[in-house]
Amino acid sequence: MKIAVVRENRQGEHRVAVVPELVGKLTALGYEVAVEPGAGERALYSDDLYRAAGADVAWGADHNATIVASVQPLERERITRLRAGTALISFLPADPLAIVRAAATAKITVFGMEFIPRISRAQSMDALSSQALVAGYRAAIVAAERLPRFFPLNMTAAGTVPPAQVVVLGAGVAGLQAIATAKRLGAVVKGYDVRAAAAEEIASMGAQPIELGLDTLEGAGGYAREMTQERAERQRQLLAPYIAAADVLITTAAVPGRQAPILVTKAMVDEMKPGSVVIDLAAESGGNVEGSVPGLEIKVGEVLLWGGANVASQMAGPASRLYGQNVLNLITLLTREGQFDPDFSDEIVAGCCVTHDGAVLHDQTRAQLSGEGPQ
Ligand code: NAD
Repeated sequence: MKIAVVRENRQGEHRVAVVPELVGKLTALGYEVAVEPGAGERALYSDDLYRAAGADVAWGADHNATIVASVQPLERERITRLRAGTALISFLPADPLAIVRAAATAKITVFGMEFIPRISRAQSMDALSSQALVAGYRAAIVAAERLPRFFPLNMTAAGTVPPAQVVVLGAGVAGLQAIATAKRLGAVVKGYDVRAAAAEEIASMGAQPIELGLDTLEGAGGYAREMTQERAERQRQLLAPYIAAADVLITTAAVPGRQAPILVTKAMVDEMKPGSVVIDLAAESGGNVEGSVPGLEIKVGEVLLWGGANVASQMAGPASRLYGQNVLNLITLLTREGQFDPDFSDEIVAGCCVTHDGAVLHDQTRAQLSGEGPQ
């Protein structure tokens, strides 16, 4: 059984789906691994490293492959050229319908990494978490680098330098990692999240949970629910003094399937001290901070507003290593005795399989397709 690893084509995507150290694990399981030339180049994994690990490095790696692994989905035209029955493992685009339609028509089996269920047994395959961890770390490091002040307290003969005040909004995987990283750099950190369980998690990182006295917003599967307009307005009013006092603000708040909530208005940013830094990790899904632009650093008065775009890819080596391990664990689940043999009654397989044998199996995607009408 051949597993193919493609060179990513999307602009700004520097990760690779399988790193050389995982090639050995796959070959030890009895699989052939074929890698497109340059696939790992931008994550600093050379073709020679792949060859030394036992991979065949050549164009056309996906020819006759049983599984094709990538970070971003393959282009529609490329999917249509694959042999029926090929399995694809990748993230899907925000609007996946064109790809899903092409894959169903070509009888390609598609697994979406973002659809791996958030259950304990699936944690080793949870690429949303592994990539959010990288993004959260990077958010704190970018903030520390851009802030023209110290993060830690310094008591010197020349006087005392106070520590930076960091506020993190949204304490999921990325937010907690941003909190932990800012703490390690010596900042005084406060965190806020709408979920009740988050306060304890924020405190466990050594940060101070911000208590606003508002109702908590627990949704299904441990995720947050969307706020009403009224609650959003009240939350912004209550958060405003914390943000005005912060040297660094990091926002990571998301609600599954929805545009990110606006937690911070331009007026709130205007109240921050000159030189303060705002990192909006939610910029690509609409932004938590009014005016943030994915991939751009802009000035709002004297405050720097950094909009995240594919932030995990900015640390492509470690992000690829984690993603690759998630992919390898999924491949292990999908195969038996060296053959591709997914058990569709398994909750994880059923949860992340989008198309198989011409049918769209993923409920949410099928509902999106039927809402769209015939094409
Ligand atoms: P996410 O990326 O969907 O959202 C980030 C955070 O933003 C969440 O903590 C959310 O509560 C928060 N948020 C949403 N609206 C907000 C608002 N208006 N104001 C402030 N904060 C707001 O989250 P995630 O990192 O994917 O984690 C979501 C949940 O899933 C968490 O409870 C996490 O512990 C859980 N989780 C479980 C597993 C597992 O069991 N395998 C793995 C990862 C995460």
